[in-house]
Amino acid sequence: MLRWLTGRGAAARKIASTREQIDPRMWDELVSHYVFLRALDPAQREALLARTAWILASKTVSAAAGLHMTDRIALTIAAQAALPILNLDPARYEGWSEIIVYPAGFQIPRKREDEDGVVHEYLEDAAGEAWDGGPVVLSWEDAADDADDFNVVIHEFAHKLDLGNGEANGVPPLTHCKPATRKHWVRVLNESFDAFCRSVDAVESQIPPDMDPESEESWTWWSTLAMDPYAATDEAEFFAVSSEVFFVNPTLLADEMPHWYDLLADFYQQDPAKSLRHPQLPR
Ligand SMILES: [Zn+2]
Repeated sequence: MLRWLTGRGAAARKIASTREQIDPRMWDELVSHYVFLRALDPAQREALLARTAWILASKTVSAAAGLHMTDRIALTIAAQAALPILNLDPARYEGWSEIIVYPAGFQIPRKREDEDGVVHEYLEDAAGEAWDGGPVVLSWEDAADDADDFNVVIHEFAHKLDLGNGEANGVPPLTHCKPATRKHWVRVLNESFDAFCRSVDAVESQIPPDMDPESEESWTWWSTLAMDPYAATDEAEFFAVSSEVFFVNPTLLADEMPHWYDLLADFYQQDPAKSLRHPQLPR
């Protein structure tokens, strides 16, 4: 018991000292760089700083493939990773210890068995990956991007939240949500996912047959969708991509998928569309 208390006290001291070491100027620059962090009110920014310190004190942020790790890289990643758990118990990010950062996109070896039982081995380009019980892997080039249509850090940490009940299936642990939410969640998730898959099919059918649907020029068609078509992969990717849009372009998600937005707002205990519609006046 005493050891447990000592351990907990040591962890709290480590978080407090990590928080003190965060350079206030670097922190202010970071918060004003990202629109979705700028929209936070002073109390939320303070909570974000506390969660960021928790992440930096609890996880090792290491560099791979020749990247030189700096305080700015670690802080930029931790602050974005802190946003989803701003109002949640940070214990949801426990059970693993490392964030690995590549300078840019990296490749993941994959195996896929086709309908004839032939196993195909190939390399998949990735900007991020979340291992079940293992590290979060990120591309710094993508994590540094302040785009308003994707966010690889939020995407991978949403997978971590989803994995909280042992399976990435678009249904994270909902114990803190309103009673009977799970049944409602699964219904709204399935309806929203099916509707999105139908829009993806509709867009795909409009792309001229002589155009590669994965080419850059085909993006004119794909950009009419509310989210990256990658969200149609499965329910886990739908939850992760929706979580990105929920934070970086919340009014779009609230307008396009209001029921799904409301559930995400209940899950994350945040309403970013409301904050953007009623922005805080600068102090
Ligand atoms: Zn994913």
